[in-house]
Amino acid sequence: MMTPLLKRSLSRNGFSLLELMAVVTIIGILVSIVLTRIANSSDAAKAKTCANNVSQINSALERFAVSTGNFATTISDVDTIEYFPGGIPTCAVDDSAFTLNTTTHRVEGHSH
Ligand SMILES: [Zn+2]
Repeated sequence: MMTPLLKRSLSRNGFSLLELMAVVTIIGILVSIVLTRIANSSDAAKAKTCANNVSQINSALERFAVSTGNFATTISDVDTIEYFPGGIPTCAVDDSAFTLNTTTHRVEGHSH
């Protein structure tokens, strides 16, 4: 036994307004899920880039200490074409400069 709404729906060609609204709503929900995923993956990629920049700077600081026999006193000691031809990298998340911990002679990572 078909309901009158189903019978009317099956007898007409094309989509009803209700069906069209349901499809648009479902597509909107799917798009919002995808956009949220893309935004989250972008933030995660920036945080990993920040951690990688810290690792590169610490590696340069260690090479500086080995090659000169002295620890770097400021981070700009490794701001040479030998270590960073394009300049010392900054944080990929907030574009802030890293600071050198003079006790450990290393750059501390950010907590992103
Ligand atoms: Zn950072």
